[in-house]
Amino acid sequence: MIRTRFAPSPTGYMHIGNLRSALYTYLVAKSEGGTFILRIEDTDKNRQVDDATDIIYKTLEIAGLTYDEGPNVGGDFGPYIQSERKSNYIKYAKQLVDDGFAYYCFCTKERLESLDSYDNHCRSLSSDLIEENLKNNVPYVIRQLIPDGYTNFKDQVYGKISVDNKELDDQVLIKADGFPTYNFANVVDDHLMEISHIVRGSEYLSSTPKYILLYKALNFPIPAFIHLPLIQGEDGQKLSKRRGDASFQDLIDQGYLPDAIINYIALLGFSPSNNKEIFNLNELTEIFNVKGLNKSPATFDTKKLMWVNTEYFKKMSEDDFFLLSEKILADNIKRPNIDLKYVSSLVKSRVTFIKDIPSLVDFIDNTFHYEKDLFVHKKMKTNEENSLTSLQNILPIIESIEDWSLDNIHDTVFSFIKTLEIKNGVMLWPLRTALSTKPTSPCGAIDLFILLGKNESIKRIKHAINLLSN
Ligand code: GLU
Repeated sequence: MIRTRFAPSPTGYMHIGNLRSALYTYLVAKSEGGTFILRIEDTDKNRQVDDATDIIYKTLEIAGLTYDEGPNVGGDFGPYIQSERKSNYIKYAKQLVDDGFAYYCFCTKERLESLDSYDNHCRSLSSDLIEENLKNNVPYVIRQLIPDGYTNFKDQVYGKISVDNKELDDQVLIKADGFPTYNFANVVDDHLMEISHIVRGSEYLSSTPKYILLYKALNFPIPAFIHLPLIQGEDGQKLSKRRGDASFQDLIDQGYLPDAIINYIALLGFSPSNNKEIFNLNELTEIFNVKGLNKSPATFDTKKLMWVNTEYFKKMSEDDFFLLSEKILADNIKRPNIDLKYVSSLVKSRVTFIKDIPSLVDFIDNTFHYEKDLFVHKKMKTNEENSLTSLQNILPIIESIEDWSLDNIHDTVFSFIKTLEIKNGVMLWPLRTALSTKPTSPCGAIDLFILLGKNESIKRIKHAINLLSN
């Protein structure tokens, strides 16, 4: 049975790399019917940011990454919180000391600061001195004793890795305040929580040999490792909180849909075998396979994310889109008798963000100043002359329409075009231009008639005739 955990440290906002780790960790478990756990690694109180834990909960909830188990919190289960599990870690650290895999270090801050890197000074303290120091409450940390030799392991993405232990330092396992470092708590908890697959960013690849040595020293079975490729910005630099790169919340604030973000993030390092690019979390869970993970860095591509967002709006039902667009439409359209739901259905496939809507519908309330050349369209074969003729011809027809419905207007206009024996565009482009008063509109002439109503449509056609006649 696969068991995975997402183990964030609450040190800041949930940036894209964190969210991708959470998503892949979830998928590794869920694609095999396994268990997904959330563990907050908060033993380093100095690095903690106040509301970071709440942001983690909120983000996972919005993203739909629901964790499966945890300690009982008032009848329900909450996530595992390392700072509430302190006694577990001390016990294992003492065991390591007893077995010769770790040691007490009494070096002062001043001594450590005078060194480039720790010189393993306390490895060789006599047991008498250690006992005396402990008795006198001299502050200490517990350090891992890195043995000579090589550490080998296999990562499911990066393959076989072998490291000379000389490159590893005698890292601190328990700090002077009695709390474990996250490097140590991480190993102990992965064992206690029976995590079978460790999924995390490749920045932890270099720490993994130290973890492996701890697993061995503690006689813990070694889990499978799945390290995820770096995500780099479009400039080729590593994405990071420090560099101010996008957090999940920033993207939401910019107008991206949570599902679109998750969908896009799923593609940062994973190639589905069927080349599909749009899928929801359930579909992702079905197609996800560790073999599809790439080890080369993934590039965060804003244009691609925008495309995904656009696809999500297109895919959305008209009712759901109206829930999102109604307010901004109502705020931006004051002309009476406008069917906002209808406008909503017309702009749905044209938006990347909801905030694009005002500039798509501004022509409904306002007309824009335009010049005659707006009627010239090469592909439609229109020029100022034939546009004027078309509009002059159709004006009385429009004026005579009584049943102002989409079907009737459509049929009337198209049968009239037939009688003129002209190309559709030669009539439709001038109409579209006259009605929208802009070079682009979210819909064609027939829909524009419906949007604007009869009086306003006639007014705008007359204005165009006037302009083209002078
Ligand atoms: N606590 C680490 C972090 O915040 C994660 C370590 C891991 O996943 O093993 O990135």
